[in-house]
Amino acid sequence: EQLKKELVVTAWEKNRMREKVSFGKRSSLPMSQQRKELPVFKMRSTLMESVSSNQFIVIVGETGSGKTTQITQYLNDEGYSRKGMIGCTQPRRVAAISVATRVAEEFGCKVGDEVGYNVRFDDRTSRRTQIKYMTDGMLQREALLDPLMSKYSVIMLDEAHERTVATDILFALLKEAAKVRPELKIIITSATLDSEKFSKYFNGCPVINIPGKTFPVEVMYAQSPQMDYIAATLECVMDIHINNNAGDILVFLTGQEEIDSCCEILYERVKMLGDAIGELLILPIYSALPSEVQSKIFEPTPEGTRKVVFATNIAETSITIDGIYYVVDPGFSKVNTYNPRAGMEQLIVSPISKAQANQRKGRAGRTGPGKCYRLYIESAFYNEMLPNTIPEIQRQNLSNTILMLKAMGINDLLNFDFMDPPPRNLLLSALSELYNLEALDTDGYLTKLGQRMSQFPMDPTLSKVMLSSVTNECSEEISTIIAMLSVQNVFFRPRDRQQEADRQKSKFHHPYGDHLTLLNVYTQWDNAGGGQQFCEINFLHGRHLKRARDVKKQICSIINQLNLPIVSSRGDVDIIRKTLVAGFFMNAAKREASVGYKTIVGNTIVGIHPSSSLYGKEYEYVIYNSLVLTSREFMSQVTSIEPDWLLEFAPHYYKAVDTNSKSRKKMKITPLHDRYSKDQNSWRLSSKRQSREKA
Ligand code: ADP
Ligand code: MG
Repeated sequence: EQLKKELVVTAWEKNRMREKVSFGKRSSLPMSQQRKELPVFKMRSTLMESVSSNQFIVIVGETGSGKTTQITQYLNDEGYSRKGMIGCTQPRRVAAISVATRVAEEFGCKVGDEVGYNVRFDDRTSRRTQIKYMTDGMLQREALLDPLMSKYSVIMLDEAHERTVATDILFALLKEAAKVRPELKIIITSATLDSEKFSKYFNGCPVINIPGKTFPVEVMYAQSPQMDYIAATLECVMDIHINNNAGDILVFLTGQEEIDSCCEILYERVKMLGDAIGELLILPIYSALPSEVQSKIFEPTPEGTRKVVFATNIAETSITIDGIYYVVDPGFSKVNTYNPRAGMEQLIVSPISKAQANQRKGRAGRTGPGKCYRLYIESAFYNEMLPNTIPEIQRQNLSNTILMLKAMGINDLLNFDFMDPPPRNLLLSALSELYNLEALDTDGYLTKLGQRMSQFPMDPTLSKVMLSSVTNECSEEISTIIAMLSVQNVFFRPRDRQQEADRQKSKFHHPYGDHLTLLNVYTQWDNAGGGQQFCEINFLHGRHLKRARDVKKQICSIINQLNLPIVSSRGDVDIIRKTLVAGFFMNAAKREASVGYKTIVGNTIVGIHPSSSLYGKEYEYVIYNSLVLTSREFMSQVTSIEPDWLLEFAPHYYKAVDTNSKSRKKMKITPLHDRYSKDQNSWRLSSKRQSREKA
């Protein structure tokens, strides 16, 4: 009993240590029985008949009704996989992995056999795979090589209501493929009722509703606007726990840091109250969490205990946690928004839409009548929130997407069959970025370099750096740096040992900055045999480093496929920095004594992030990987450069203005022209060589 209690109370700490804590059996019912209880089971024959007599169908059903895990299996039972794989896309990597794992279990196979998944840099499929879950981004990549989707008999675009860029693009690509392949079946599933729009887009196809068994949810609003939604959230959770009947709690927060700190604060409070209150199991869920820890939220809550799950909006629709009776909704989520003028993408905490709020509320009514605590006032819900979330394609950086479309020969972006077309300035800024990276020629057509760049599943800036490293003979080092940039932070900084961790980290610091620091870490880890002991001594996340090794391997295999060499610079550090400039030249900043740094494009005041190895150093010119907005704008992953390299590697982009200056370090450099407002870009929207030549 004592042990059990300890396990429950310290579950949060155990999670952080990533140890396995088991609470016994997962569910009382055998799996085959559980499957028959799902709402989708009753609709099985209707669904299968509809798929058989239509090329497109739209399926709408509450989250948890069994769409994602069951329909693919029904299709498999119907024999569709004899004619090709059954593919199912997910907007989120975590969801793809978690769902594939569950379905493999139901199917009775190992992940990667009959049921598998494919997400960026992690392919768990084999020749035997019949049901394949993947991110929508991966299927979009597949379309590059195989626009007709010839490996698939059915493709299910799941979670279509999320309207990610990749799903939106796939709408159009699959509609085209379906014209050529009448036997290809396309299923669009959505959790919300914007089905009419989907149906209209897919030639008025049928819409099937899966009636869910849902219970009424009582909604409570805050009496006055909350200044600090974190404090309000914690108070609300404690109040529910102390004053309400049994039932688990689901809390929606905006991101990992917020979730981790809420878990810690709540854990401390619960510990302080000791036996005065019931046991509370505190669990986090966000995409960066290792999957063993994630799967814990699916385990049934032990008798006499309450579970509280702190989640990002991943728990809105992509994954379902059973037994939730209470939802706490502060009303925010983090949205990736691109500012084309400043040329930067930012994660901004913004109010959610009404549709999202209702989706969150619905999570409380799956097992019985529930309660939803909205930590905002009622009039905010009715008068201030947008009805629907704005599709990503209308607010994100599209350079990667457009590079891919161009690589598929789709040049006329104005006439592309977008469900909701992106704003013109987003298209123009993406085209301009690709042109500046020399991926497009002046007519807006793909260059040889652009063709090669499109082969790498990464930002065009990074693929440009990668390919420049081949010419500059440092592809060995650059592939490592890019791999390290693609994985989560490798530095481990536990709250109670921060100074010690920072001391260890500083031993890896390279005087020229973070990119070379990352190279140092990887190289030393690799030379030491890539083991866990090295990581423990040096406060590194071994798991992330191993992932970096996998990513590096995949990057190198793409380079090999392109018949390009992997060569080392043999200790020449400058060539590595110069190569970084060849891609990141648009992300350059110059030091201005009074304010810190100013970006050369856009003149934004920025600082060096405190976690950077260049923090507190005073180099004149730097380039950075990205800008992050916290208390202010920070450059993250920074490397010092020489200003004349900007002219050397981007002469089409920069000019020197103050040529009299004696010191080349003090040289002043400005962009040749405004990034995208120039009319000269407009015609790249629908590249038509002939019409331009005539004009
Ligand atoms: P939908 O796609 O309609 O939202 P799913 O097919 O994802 O529904 O889930 C159906 C049910 O399967 C859920 O209610 C849950 O009980 C169960 N389930 C799904 N994923 C898992 C998992 N990883 N572990 C345990 N149970 C799961
Ligand atoms: Mg689903």
